[in-house]
Amino acid sequence: MTEVVQAPERPDERKFRRISHWIDGKLVPGESGRSGPVYNPALGVQSAEVDFASVEEIARAVAAAKDAFSSWRSVSLSQRQELMFRIRQLVRDRREEMAKILTDEHGKVFSDALGEVQRGLEVVEFACGIPTLLKGDFSEQASTGIDVYSIRQPLGVVAGITPFNFPAMVPMWMWAPAIACGNTFVLKPSEKDPSESLFVGELLKEAGVPDGVFNVVQGDKVAVDAILAHADIAAVSFVGSTPIARYIYEQGTASGKRVQALGGAKNHMVVLPDADIEMAADAAVSAAYGSAGERCMAISAVVAVGDSADPLIDAIKERLPKVKVGPGNEPESEMGPLITREHRDKVASYIDHGREQGATVVADGREATPEGDGFFLGVSLLDKVTPEMDAYKDEIFGPVLVVTRADTYDEAVRLVNENPYGNGVALFTRDGGVARQFQFDVQVGMVGINVPIPVPVAYYSFGGWKSSLFGDSHIYGPEGINFYTRGKVVTSRWPDPATSNVDLGFPQTR
Ligand code: NAD
Repeated sequence: MTEVVQAPERPDERKFRRISHWIDGKLVPGESGRSGPVYNPALGVQSAEVDFASVEEIARAVAAAKDAFSSWRSVSLSQRQELMFRIRQLVRDRREEMAKILTDEHGKVFSDALGEVQRGLEVVEFACGIPTLLKGDFSEQASTGIDVYSIRQPLGVVAGITPFNFPAMVPMWMWAPAIACGNTFVLKPSEKDPSESLFVGELLKEAGVPDGVFNVVQGDKVAVDAILAHADIAAVSFVGSTPIARYIYEQGTASGKRVQALGGAKNHMVVLPDADIEMAADAAVSAAYGSAGERCMAISAVVAVGDSADPLIDAIKERLPKVKVGPGNEPESEMGPLITREHRDKVASYIDHGREQGATVVADGREATPEGDGFFLGVSLLDKVTPEMDAYKDEIFGPVLVVTRADTYDEAVRLVNENPYGNGVALFTRDGGVARQFQFDVQVGMVGINVPIPVPVAYYSFGGWKSSLFGDSHIYGPEGINFYTRGKVVTSRWPDPATSNVDLGFPQTR
């Protein structure tokens, strides 16, 4: 995690803009004395300092959320719907400001940042349908004079813990359905790019969300552990790396919470010999290097089947010099920097490891990195990578694409299924029958057929299999609504004085 610094006692000694918490509808400066640096990755310099919450500060946010819950859950569905529509309008109106914050702190290029806001907005739009989404079932006359119906109710205070790579969209996957369902929310964003969450706090207030319904606590492991231990938090949604996802799931469920914890990925793109190679090469380049490879649905391993390999590598290689690497706020840039210097160096180390372990380095991004102190790394391509190599085994999470060659379709599917992750996978082919077989065979949660990044639309749910998800519930869409509510079934009879009598028998369905 990010290095921790002790904040100076006198505020005027602070050199950097301070990023605080958002509790009960207002900005609340941290008092723990602990904070961490926030960088502008394109410049490679510190731009701000973020407060790290203490256990007491987490308790304060949870108390605000708990206080707000009883009135928030009583707000009518039509009023909550109206509020979601207002939020939608405000996000649309202010999306450029939101995208600029993303570019400044995360580094992704502005067009990509706008795309992130748009994909998050789609989840808000889904949540605008909350009256329909919460409709239950009704069975009239289940027994004589008895009706049975089901309802879904909010859980209470729920928390979200989110990663650095989508500071707007991933929180929206959580808070939009959570509050639409009538819960109150405590968000712990990544300490690497924390500003977006405060902008959202202001925006929700402007939309009319009551104080305490949406809270933000900044911080590191101390804050996360306090969330996991807090008795008044009913559920935790987590998105991040696999080791932390496993930890969150184990700790959260051990303290009686409902948990969905989405982890890391190693997404394969299988290219069959009959595929449209030009289309597959375009897809591989955009899916591997978009957002500098820092996407959980990025393609990080191409499996070239049979004689697709050589033409595919040539086609990818031809495209690489055209990828414009540069600061995200320059319109011509297509790929920005990585999140930190340490991460950039770690990603770059896979190029040498790959070479040492026998891979062919087709492109070394270090030779195409812009000058300056920014955390840049150009696009890199390794060929003849085998499953034993680190570059194949690890989630690199950067602009290093590996190509593994397979002789047959069966070998390609075996590679996908033997991988510990199961987030996304793509198949490129012209054969509908093989595509259908592939969707049946692969042990992966999200499958693309000639689509490299198959992030489901907002009215489906998002989630992987195996080490990419801990818990039973995928995120957003119908499964998100289920996650943030629990069911109740009511069996009801209204007294009919004419037939009233005492019956001690077990209720019968007649
Ligand atoms: P991360 O796991 O380091 O951090 C995620 C969150 O956990 C942050 O809020 C962080 O503060 C917290 N955290 C980090 N270390 C912790 C610890 N030891 N104890 C408690 N909390 C801790 O992930 P990241 O580097 O921010 O994000 C990148 C990872 O997220 C990648 O592995 C990527 O695949 C994954 N990701 C997955 C999805 C998905 O939908 N499956 C989506 C986006 C990102």
